[in-house]
Amino acid sequence: MPSVQTTAGPIDASAMGRTLCHEHLRTSSEAVRFQFPHLYDAEAEFEAAVAQVRAAMEHGVRTIVDPACMDLGRDAGFARRVAEATGIQLVLATGIYGEHYSFIAHHFETRDEDYLADAFVHDLEQGVQGTEIRSAFLKTAADEPGITPGVEKVHRAAARASLRTGAPIMAHSRPASRTGLDQMRIFLDEGVAPEKVMIAHTGDTDDLAYIEELLALGPYIGMDRYGTEIFLPDAQRNTTVAALVERGYAERMILSHDACATIDWFPPEMIAQLAPNWHFTHLFETVIPQLLELGVAQDAIDAMLDLTPRRWLAGA
Ligand SMILES: [Zn+2]
Repeated sequence: MPSVQTTAGPIDASAMGRTLCHEHLRTSSEAVRFQFPHLYDAEAEFEAAVAQVRAAMEHGVRTIVDPACMDLGRDAGFARRVAEATGIQLVLATGIYGEHYSFIAHHFETRDEDYLADAFVHDLEQGVQGTEIRSAFLKTAADEPGITPGVEKVHRAAARASLRTGAPIMAHSRPASRTGLDQMRIFLDEGVAPEKVMIAHTGDTDDLAYIEELLALGPYIGMDRYGTEIFLPDAQRNTTVAALVERGYAERMILSHDACATIDWFPPEMIAQLAPNWHFTHLFETVIPQLLELGVAQDAIDAMLDLTPRRWLAGA
């Protein structure tokens, strides 16, 4: 089988095992962290990440895919420390999130897609932030503002870096704005094979017509925000996943939480109040029993947690 890059180097794809395909060890506003480090307690952040990872591992999780990238506070050294402390197989990204989903840093605004693709390829082939830790995939994002010039540049650059390296792409999307379709059009226009792409957050809608229109273009889709009831309650996420499994799409979906062991975007008490179930084990403790009760077969659950992440990441 092909290999997958982790913070500890390449592993055989067959060793991925149970995988949470979209979780964040630590999310922070990186400019704030750089300018005002006194606002952060790095050891508390580390302990929180270790605790979340260990809890997931108690449910059989062997691999976590962390799509942190530019603008989300990606930190390869921090990720490696968490992986070494826990033994988790940790898979990192390269890419750009885009502040407010539209802005691109001046540095890249005045340079073209291929320059940006070169930066991504560096992370995929050489290593991230001066380490020898290589990214395994590309991350892009489109949201309410749609495909702004900055967002389009990031998507085209990610597509070109994918074509040059074979790395897959994970694209943050906003189903309410149907951005997944526009994002796929850019990737396909650049010549990326659709099975290289994961359209994240597709599970934020229960609009089956939109989801099937997207699936017809060929990507994997992320049913990856379990526990974020503000975007869509779990009950609706479940009926959507069950309906799609029924229609034969288990091997096109992944299940995850998009949870952050810590996130500095909100005061901690606000997160506890808004999303009490937003953590790395909610799927195992609550969601999977509910899906089984809805008639989703264990085989389909296994496909969404084991098989699909591997197929998307490694093509195997
Ligand atoms: Zn995320």
